[in-house]
Amino acid sequence: MTGTQKLTFDELIRHWASEKPDQVAIEQDGDALTFAQLEERSRRIVAMLRAHGLSKGDRIAWLGKNARHYFELFYSAARMGVVMVPIGWRLAAPEIAFILGDTGARLLFIDEGFDELAAKACGQMDDPPEIVDTSTAKAEIAAAPADDFEGAGPDDAVLQLYTSGTTGNPKGAVLTNANLFSLRLPAEEAAQPWSKWDENEAILVCMPCAHIGGTGLGIMAIAAGIRAIVQSEFTPDGVLDGFEQGITRLFIVPAALQMVIQHPRAKDTDFSAVKYVMYGAAPIPLDLLREAVQTIPGAGFLQCYGMTETTGTIAMLPPDDHTLEGNQRMKSAGKAVPGAELRVVGDDGAELPRGEVGELICKSPSNMQGYWNLPDATSGALKDGWMYTGDAAYMDEDGYVYIQDRIKDMIISGGENVYPAQVESAIYGHPAVGEVAVIGVPDDTWGEAVKACVVAKPGSEVDPEDIIAFTRERLAGFKVPKTIDVIPEMPRNASGKILRRELRAPYWEGRD
Ligand code: ATP
Ligand code: MG
Repeated sequence: MTGTQKLTFDELIRHWASEKPDQVAIEQDGDALTFAQLEERSRRIVAMLRAHGLSKGDRIAWLGKNARHYFELFYSAARMGVVMVPIGWRLAAPEIAFILGDTGARLLFIDEGFDELAAKACGQMDDPPEIVDTSTAKAEIAAAPADDFEGAGPDDAVLQLYTSGTTGNPKGAVLTNANLFSLRLPAEEAAQPWSKWDENEAILVCMPCAHIGGTGLGIMAIAAGIRAIVQSEFTPDGVLDGFEQGITRLFIVPAALQMVIQHPRAKDTDFSAVKYVMYGAAPIPLDLLREAVQTIPGAGFLQCYGMTETTGTIAMLPPDDHTLEGNQRMKSAGKAVPGAELRVVGDDGAELPRGEVGELICKSPSNMQGYWNLPDATSGALKDGWMYTGDAAYMDEDGYVYIQDRIKDMIISGGENVYPAQVESAIYGHPAVGEVAVIGVPDDTWGEAVKACVVAKPGSEVDPEDIIAFTRERLAGFKVPKTIDVIPEMPRNASGKILRRELRAPYWEGRD
């Protein structure tokens, strides 16, 4: 886009509808909506929301898989400043009731097949929202007038996204138009190659829309004025099909990337259309990353580091740093994206010398307004415009950050700090290991002892002694697991992240 930056959904949608009315904006299973159609339809949706008595600052919620109609509802609500709260469809009724109660949403839009879950969640609430199913919404939208309305401004909240709930209860991050678009508009000057888009690109939205890695990709497509291809949920087959249908970019979490590249179909897939594979949201084992780079050789790999509270990516590892031979940079999550600033600080908040591990903090126009209804958590996390990530990291001389792990997950064993992600990355290299999570368990001698929980690769058997010996060859003694649990399945949350707290819980019961 040229000229003045457009920092709201309302301006962007008007802009693309006049610049390229016939360009497809959102597509699902071949069912496409152009920018001109989106512009017109969203006026009707705004009128429908108004008829329900909603105005700027009110909240609506969505319960369902990824859907074209979720995105048009979100964009339309955002145009008028009604805040969308997408809720993870894998959550259980009490978790959904918690989020609905927390937001005070007046309407809950549900996708087909979610009636029972929605009714169950609402049945547990004192003041439940009105449930609107897809066919009711369709009829109301069709009957509503395509009137003009006043668009929301850059600093109006438009999206309330709950954190993944990896470390505790999910928290609602309140995000404004400016938060969503400040780092995402295609850069005009000194742009990185990946911040430029060709007209005919298509971006795949396959991660859940309740996560910034899902909804954020729709936002990226609106910012760039290109086609978003929506898949209702992640499947490795769906992604491989998408590649063959001309997907040029996607975002995917490491666990999903592993399923795609290790799928039997992967070796016969034509990856030639893929320009960029964005991956992140959780640590990635180095061997897995190397395998992915070799499996999809023509693509530029971009590691994304960020959090819900920063509207996603604030650091990126560029394609050039993904070289296979002895490249230390490949262990990095990258450097600050243009417009964001990163620092590593000690307990007193002072910046640490390069190479020293401390807490990573970020100043960015994409930093959230705050956590909804949690003033203490907000003031603990956002200080003078800096977001305290809760992640332990160091920075090298060139500004590359190396995420060690979450500070909360650090294991202190015999006075030494052990970051589980590093131990996991080493163990993952063992040929019998499919998945691995490392935790600290109580130990009378060491305070905490390192334990690895391992899921065997299909058809393989895991010998704990062998894993311990394998790790001893690769890591300092204090990082080597003292014990191994072989488990049938890895507990993961709806974003595909490993729930170490669930693995830890049985060992710490009755203790701290
Ligand atoms: P909660 O805050 O509710 O415990 P969560 O932190 O998992 O859940 P998200 O906002 O989805 O919720 O995730 C952000 C976190 O994910 C970061 O703080 C970091 O720990 C991790 N993360 C994101 N990107 C990367 C990456 N590229 N490498 C390693 N870790 C990452
Ligand atoms: Mg978090």
